[in-house]
Amino acid sequence: MIEALLTETQKELRSEVRDFVKSVPRQLVLDMDADRVRYPREYVREAGRRHLLGLRFPAEYGGRGLSWEDEIIALEEVGVLGTALGCAYAMPSIVGEALHVFGTAEQQERWLRPLLSGELISAEALTEPRGGSDFFGTTTLARRDGDSYVLNGQKRFIVGAAEADFFLVYARTRPEAPPHEGISAFIVERGPGVEVEHLYGLMGTRGGGTGRLVFREARVPLENIIGQEHGAADVFYQMMIPERMTSAAAAMGMARAALEIAARYSDRRHAFGQKIRRFEGVSFKVADSITLLDAARPSPGFVDRGLSYTLSLIVEQLVLLRTEVVQ
Ligand SMILES: Cc1cc2nc3c(=O)[nH]c(=O)nc-3n(C[C@H](O)[C@H](O)[C@H](O)COP(=O)(O)OP(=O)(O)OC[C@H]3O[C@@H](n4cnc5c(N)ncnc54)[C@H](O)[C@@H]3O)c2cc1C
Repeated sequence: MIEALLTETQKELRSEVRDFVKSVPRQLVLDMDADRVRYPREYVREAGRRHLLGLRFPAEYGGRGLSWEDEIIALEEVGVLGTALGCAYAMPSIVGEALHVFGTAEQQERWLRPLLSGELISAEALTEPRGGSDFFGTTTLARRDGDSYVLNGQKRFIVGAAEADFFLVYARTRPEAPPHEGISAFIVERGPGVEVEHLYGLMGTRGGGTGRLVFREARVPLENIIGQEHGAADVFYQMMIPERMTSAAAAMGMARAALEIAARYSDRRHAFGQKIRRFEGVSFKVADSITLLDAARPSPGFVDRGLSYTLSLIVEQLVLLRTEVVQ
C-alpha cells in the first residue's frame, strides 16, 4: 500500500509485522536456501503465537477480523523474507478461505482454528504433472466407496507438502459430468496412501517443502468434503481471491527489498569521482522502479475510497518519490 493511504492503525500493524519479520533468524533463511531445512515449521508457529496468521478471519477462529487491505499490508512486509517464507505465511489465508466460507462448524473447529494458531500446517493441492493453468482438467480421481472417497492421482509443486498435516485437494468425483460440475474439494490428512515422493529444489523456494504428492487408494471420509459434493468450482474461485492477492502482495515486499538494496548501493558506490546515483542512467532506473512498484501495489480499498481521490494521491506521491530519489 502507498504510504499516504495508510491509516495510523495500519501503520501500527505494519510495525508489528516488521518486528516479526526482523525476529526471523537470518540463518534460517540461509539454511532454507541451502536445503538444510525442509520446512520452517517453527516460523509458522511463531506467526500463529503472535496472532499474525489469517488476519481477516474472525477472532473466534484466531484471526483479528481485519480487512483484506490489512492482510495485504502484512503480506508485503513478510514478502521481504522471500517466496518460501511468504508462501508459508500465506497458506493459512488461502486454505483458511475455503474452510471459512464453505466449511461446516465442525470442519472449522477441527482445521481452521489450529491453522490460524500455527499448530497445524496446511497445503493446497491443485497443480498436477499434466499442468496447472487448466485447473478443470484435473485427472486426480476420487471414487465413491460407501461413506468415503478413495483418491488416486498426483499433484505437483505443492508448497509445504513436506510437512503439511492436511491438504486441500481437488479431485474429479464425477468423470462423466462437465468439468465445472464434476470436481470436489477434500481435506486429506497425512496418512496411508498419501505420499510425498519428491521435493523440488526450486530456486527461491527451497526450504518451503515444495513437493510432488501421490495418492494411492487414499481413503477420505465424506465429512472431509469442503462445500458441496461435486461443487469444488465455487471453492476454487473463492480460494483464488487470497491466492492471487497474497502472491502479489508478497512479491511487492520482495521487490521493495531488492530495490532498497539497489538504491543503497547506488548511494555508496563511487565511479568517476562521484556516487553512481548522481548519474542520470542509474538514478532514473531507481526512480522508475519505485514508480512501477507503487503502480503495481494491490489495494482493494481503492474502489471503496473512490478511485479519483486515490489516483490524485498516487500522482502526488509518485512525484514526491521521484524528486527524493533524483535529488
Ligand atoms: C512459487 C510457486 C508456488 C506454487 N505453489 C503451489 C501450491 O502450493 N499448490 C499447487 O497446487 N500449485 C502450486 N504452484 C503451481 C502453480 O499453480 C502452477 O505453476 C500454475 O498453475 C501453472 O501451471 P504449470 O506450471 O503446470 O504451467 P502450464 O499450465 O503447463 O502452463 C505453461 C505455460 O503455458 C501458458 N498457458 C497455459 N494455458 C494458457 C492459455 N489458456 N492461454 C495462454 N497461455 C497459457 C502458461 O501461462 C505458461 O506460460 C506453485 C507455483 C509457484 C511458482
